Amino acid sequence: MAVPLRQAMRVGAYVMKQHLLGRKRYPLVLMLEPLFRCNLACAGCGKIDYPDEILNQRISVKDALQAAEECGAPMVSIAGGEPLLHREMPQIIEGLIAQKRFVYLCTNALLLEKKMDQYKPSPYFTWSVHLDGSKEEHDKSVCQQGVYEKAVEAIKRAKAAGFRVNINCTFFDGTDPARAASFFDDVMAMGLDGITVSPGYAYERAPDQQHFLNRQKTRQLFRDIFRRGDKGKRWQFSQSSLFLNFLAGNETYACTPWANPTRNVFGWQRPCYLIGEGYAKTYAELMDGTDWDSYGVGNYEKCADCMVHSGFEGTAVKDTFKHPLKALMVSLKGVKVDGDMAPDIALDKQRPAEFVFSRHVEDAMTQIKAEKAANQNKGRAAAE
Ligand code: SF4
Repeated sequence: MAVPLRQAMRVGAYVMKQHLLGRKRYPLVLMLEPLFRCNLACAGCGKIDYPDEILNQRISVKDALQAAEECGAPMVSIAGGEPLLHREMPQIIEGLIAQKRFVYLCTNALLLEKKMDQYKPSPYFTWSVHLDGSKEEHDKSVCQQGVYEKAVEAIKRAKAAGFRVNINCTFFDGTDPARAASFFDDVMAMGLDGITVSPGYAYERAPDQQHFLNRQKTRQLFRDIFRRGDKGKRWQFSQSSLFLNFLAGNETYACTPWANPTRNVFGWQRPCYLIGEGYAKTYAELMDGTDWDSYGVGNYEKCADCMVHSGFEGTAVKDTFKHPLKALMVSLKGVKVDGDMAPDIALDKQRPAEFVFSRHVEDAMTQIKAEKAANQNKGRAAAE
């Protein structure tokens, strides 16, 4: 099982409670980005294109733990940037585990062997190693030779040390389904605990804008991959069966961005992990002050091709609770890979994209400069 029984039961009970309480919107996974600095510069990444002053910002241990308490999500995915560059990451992980949250630390693994001893194996903790395919595909995707081999070595060492280890894998246009299927076979043979898979989101700030998948290509790609692996059953995915069914074009889902609220160095990001259209100071402000209906496929141009797990896994989980038999059948029989696809959401009424990136960066730079000046003044006053 890609998700341990303890985790499946705890998260299942949590979701059941939210439904019984009649909550329309609830968080499932806190997306914590404690820094944007990275030691790689991948072609499809839209997360690290910031001035040094912003790349040097870190979320403190206190703020990270408070963010988890504030939203109450049972799972936390720590992304970035490269989280292992954050010096206080071991304390953040320890604190989140003490809060009994299931934590996934997403890493490119370049520092994993060096830093592994700072962490302890726990049923609450999983390394989620970034691997976008076999050696050739992954090294191309991260724009650096030798990263795949380093990641594989680190995975083997982490497994030998008793850690839970997943991979997170993003596919782009041009992915060969046969090679993707054989890559899944290879990683499962390494003794991995699970695979998290997603199509890439078309980040407006990513250096390579040519290789993002559109919805139709995504659906066909996943059908072509799953058909090579006993309709997906041959591999242990850490995602719900209905999310996989959605990827293969068998579900018409609207996203639930509030299921994966995002906290980063700017604050709580609106509306989701993938696009930053504004920032709230508190989780309550994010939930109450976001016009959720103005986002999502069919509502907003930037959402048109999105099928990313951070946006749609929450929808699939909700559907699983509404239709447990359907979810069970997909788990048992595998994902449908032939025949008609489910109708997709029409895009003719979506509002045009707004480009607000530079405003956030300017606001953040003004704040950083003001804080720096205030600290310098304090230092001067103390010295006099
Ligand atoms: S579809 Fe939803 S999850 Fe995807 S970018 Fe739009 S708001 Fe975010």
